[in-house]
Amino acid sequence: MSEENKIWAEKAEKVFMGTYARYPAAMVKGEGCTLTDAEGKKYLDCLAGIAVCSLGHCHPAITEAVCKQVSELVHVSNLYYTKPQTELVELLTKHSFADQVFMANSGAEANEAAIKLARICAGPERYGIISLAGSFHGRTLATVAATGQPKFHEGFEPMPEGFSHAPFGNLNVLEAMITNQTCAIMCEPLQGESGVRPLDIDYLQGVEKLCRDHNLLLIFDEIQTGMGRTGTLFAYEQIGVVPDIMTLAKALGNGMPIGAMLSRKEIAASFVPGTHGSTFGGNPVACAAAVATMKIMLEDGFMSEVLEKGEYLQKGLEKLAERFPKLASGARGMGLIRGLVLTDAGVEQGADMVKKLFDNGVLINFAGNVVLRFLPPLIITKEEIDQLLAAVADVLAGCK
Ligand SMILES: *Cc1c(COP(=O)(O)O)cnc(C)c1O
Repeated sequence: MSEENKIWAEKAEKVFMGTYARYPAAMVKGEGCTLTDAEGKKYLDCLAGIAVCSLGHCHPAITEAVCKQVSELVHVSNLYYTKPQTELVELLTKHSFADQVFMANSGAEANEAAIKLARICAGPERYGIISLAGSFHGRTLATVAATGQPKFHEGFEPMPEGFSHAPFGNLNVLEAMITNQTCAIMCEPLQGESGVRPLDIDYLQGVEKLCRDHNLLLIFDEIQTGMGRTGTLFAYEQIGVVPDIMTLAKALGNGMPIGAMLSRKEIAASFVPGTHGSTFGGNPVACAAAVATMKIMLEDGFMSEVLEKGEYLQKGLEKLAERFPKLASGARGMGLIRGLVLTDAGVEQGADMVKKLFDNGVLINFAGNVVLRFLPPLIITKEEIDQLLAAVADVLAGCK
């Protein structure tokens, strides 16, 4: 048994395309915030499959919903109605600004749908979409073009036309970039991948106003921030900005692959039979998981606990920054998406810190080359947060 991780890693490396540098563990089981690898080693999972397993691994209610659905109906395409899909879109519209939903299978697909909706809604002359420097919107060609990080474009040029990137947090430059061709502004309320970077509320409200003044659609990519991650079902609720289009994925199905693009009726009306589609989008099994996930997240007290535990984690991280000023300068985030901001000396050792934590049985990642990023399951306990903070402290104490 003891070489199991290595055996699986060696098999995988031979046959997988090299898009990922993986840690040397083959995970075999998950329960709550704990993952177990093929050799029986346990990990405190504070990444949750990158903000996906928000109710923890193998939550019994989700497992039950998935098993039941799998035994009844797995797939029929979107040529017919299904109950789980309808239940899900009813819940999503009831609890958001949106009236209508398009179902996809991933975040990138949800954003593709948003880009297509914004363009078709604006008409043929207006196709320009402005997003922000440092943003992350996905890996398909259009979403990678929307992504404001040149490293994701390299080697794949020419990029699809019509995308430009405004500097982070600068309203004047953003306004100056708007032309007759612009149809939408697209942004994350808080940039996850580039280092847990919140945008000022004033800035986001300014973006909304620009959209209203210039007749542009505001697209919020809440793929990472949505579904309770920030302590409200959607981050926009805390910002006092209502987007025209919102995209969701990651935690929506607590691990089942699913994405959604939501909008108001008048805008959604531009999508008619034939304009867009997906064979798998809104698959009954994924939707059954999402319905069960949403029902739990909507229970009384769930979100207030996320906020409270988020504050607790924030305070703990701030204390670590005070204790290790050479390595960390502060902490930031919302709810249970948090980053420990590293100093230049810290950044040099960021990847090593994550590897040492992995060795010590704690999973986090190094985001944007600036922060240690914490995305624990929202059901994490304070005891587990203490365990996480102690593990991070140990690793910081061992750094240069
Ligand atoms: C993860 C992510 C995406 C892409 O989602 P995929 O499911 O990987 O396609 C897009 N936008 C944001 C903000 C994300 O965090």
